[in-house]
Amino acid sequence: MAPTDLPAAPNALRVAPSRADAERWAAAVVEGGELEADQALALAGSLRDAGIREALAAAALAIKRRQTADRVTVSRNIFIPLTNLCRNRCSYCTFAKLPDSAEAHTYTLEEVAEVVRGGVATGCLEALMCLGDKPEIAYGSYRELLASRGLSSTTELIYEACRRALELGMLPHTNAGILSREELVRLRPVNASMGLMLETTSRRLREKGGPHFHAPDKEPAVRIRMHEIAGELKIPFTSGILLGIGENDAERVDTLRTIAGLARRWGHIQEAIIQPFHPKPGTKMRAASSLDDDTVVGWVALARLILPPEVHLQAPPNLGSNMLPRLLAAGVDDWGGVSPVTVDFINPEAPWPALHRLREQTKAAGFELRERGPVYPEWILGKPDFFDPQVRALLRSHANDEGYAQRKNDQSKEEAA
Ligand code: SF4
Repeated sequence: MAPTDLPAAPNALRVAPSRADAERWAAAVVEGGELEADQALALAGSLRDAGIREALAAAALAIKRRQTADRVTVSRNIFIPLTNLCRNRCSYCTFAKLPDSAEAHTYTLEEVAEVVRGGVATGCLEALMCLGDKPEIAYGSYRELLASRGLSSTTELIYEACRRALELGMLPHTNAGILSREELVRLRPVNASMGLMLETTSRRLREKGGPHFHAPDKEPAVRIRMHEIAGELKIPFTSGILLGIGENDAERVDTLRTIAGLARRWGHIQEAIIQPFHPKPGTKMRAASSLDDDTVVGWVALARLILPPEVHLQAPPNLGSNMLPRLLAAGVDDWGGVSPVTVDFINPEAPWPALHRLREQTKAAGFELRERGPVYPEWILGKPDFFDPQVRALLRSHANDEGYAQRKNDQSKEEAA
């Protein structure tokens, strides 16, 4: 079934490249060149060809090995969904709740502190603050709730939650949807890094019948603008693409090339997440199809060739648990946040792997799992101007000489994770 009610957008007719073409174009990228838009689009249209996928994956892996050798990273984190109210209604989302839902919840600062303490006790470094977009614009009851707690806005809630996390020794990473320049300026000193999935540059998906029709904050230009402001403000940033919500090949290529352009211009994009969409019961898109594994692997490899080599390539292991070796062989170098304490509130049906199991699986595929915090080692060691002094000091205190996580807790707790 088509994932949206939009008429199917045909991919442009083009001549299929041969495997030799793919190898030649990919080799040029490995040698430091860039994949042209028409080459990327031609390759995208041929990802069902196993030979093309193999050629792309081999080149993607070569780039990955040159950047990070056989190391693959993971961030042991806690996930705090500060509020699950959101003014948008994306057709695939089960995270957002309406204020009158029994599941609607906005964390108190005491609840935040309790989760953070649980994270500290299990050696987590990253406190991921993830929440709905601008709920105060849509819901008077939420505005009243914030006021009753002495908070003027969601941004103040985030600020105070991040402050608690820092005080208790954890490093916040906030993904709160669209934030203004003023809000980013306010939150930068209490965050080690921040993020916003670009998701897609497709304006078509904002049209009636599309998954983002009721989601003004999914307007691509708005999301691109926030990436630019984060770059101007020197905020270490996470972006990414959401695959399979109705976009076509050209739109996927454009999304990846847009992230690549932002990374090259501002130098602030630490990582790009390649996230395959999985339909969820109870949503408008519940009957849509997931992408098959070959397609996901093909896009991972193509993303590695499109993005600058220094941008880490992340795939969530709970959304591809049956294909971890294939993801690694296609250039993935990071598993993102994995929590021994909290579930993935965005994809609650997909449990995190136990960290010791992830370590074993990574090793079995020929790689070594290393732990990081919300900031990658080379950023901690080599980009001091991206951090406020307080955050910089905390980052260094939690890092070893190579910049990887140096946890103060007993490693044996991992076995319970
Ligand atoms: S913006 Fe995020 S939280 Fe809000 S409805 Fe869309 S996917 Fe859900």
